[in-house]
Amino acid sequence: MAEEPFWYTEPLPPFWDENLRTQIRVQKVLHDEQSPYQHIQVFQVGSLGRALLLDGIIQAAEADEFIYHEMVALLPCLLHPRPRRALIVGGGDGGALREALRLSTLTEAVMVELDKRVIEVCQEYLPSVSRGAFKDPKARILIGDGMEWVKRLRPSFDVAIIDLTDPTQDGPANPLYASPFFKDVARLLGKRGIISVQSGSLTFQPEWVRYLIGQLRPIFPYLRLHTAVVPSFQAGLFAFLIGSKSALPLPSRPTYQRRLSRLDGPPRYLSYEMVHASAAIPPHLAEVVGLAPNCQSA
Ligand code: SAM
Repeated sequence: MAEEPFWYTEPLPPFWDENLRTQIRVQKVLHDEQSPYQHIQVFQVGSLGRALLLDGIIQAAEADEFIYHEMVALLPCLLHPRPRRALIVGGGDGGALREALRLSTLTEAVMVELDKRVIEVCQEYLPSVSRGAFKDPKARILIGDGMEWVKRLRPSFDVAIIDLTDPTQDGPANPLYASPFFKDVARLLGKRGIISVQSGSLTFQPEWVRYLIGQLRPIFPYLRLHTAVVPSFQAGLFAFLIGSKSALPLPSRPTYQRRLSRLDGPPRYLSYEMVHASAAIPPHLAEVVGLAPNCQSA
């Protein structure tokens, strides 16, 4: 291990521009282990605070995880008229679970995580991400492969949050980024159910986003791309695909205000304006991923 502090360079994820690398300056390695599924590390990174890495890729950093988790988890909950049951696949750091549990309408949040060591390590080193969510009486944590669990769970859910690691060579999440898994998720969702999928970098992996749209669109004909800048990912516009079998309009201001009143407090990132702004995609990228300029595929 290099002497601390040191510059750490992320391995290149698939579909990434090979001329660009993500670098962070690591003050201290707080944790480093190989679980049965992946390499788990926690770094102390100056202004970003503590950061979780899986197989060398940054998953969440204390300074800006709220942006990512509000986008992947809170946004679909706020787009649904009245979410009662939420399903989270992946999300071992607990941030998506925390955001879903903020809704007073929620009666149950089921989280399926492959690797219980991610949950344990994050509770120990990054407790501010889950903020006690794993102990919430409405939370049900299932350990195992999401692919298997979605075949066994009982419908119906209102929101399904797919918060998986990026695909890597032989990565455990790879098989889930495909239509058979999305079909199983669709079976679990009610008529107005909403799926939200972390979809990589729109700026640097548009071909990946395009591929995901192709997998999702036949199953969720109402599909919209939202983006946000998550500084610690150094990924330009980060993509979140949101889909449904029913129309998925952006809420009006009064509707949004009403839905916000079901939260334990105001979001830090998702104001009414940001929800609408996050659905605006620059035409040159909309063209690459094959979406109409209004970003709605149907
Ligand atoms: N924010 C993230 C990112 O940027 O990619 C995702 C974070 S979350 C930590 C990803 C989780 O997905 C990990 O805890 C990993 O163990 C889990 N995971 C990977 N493959 C899985 C599978 N097949 N079933 C369930 N969970 C899986």
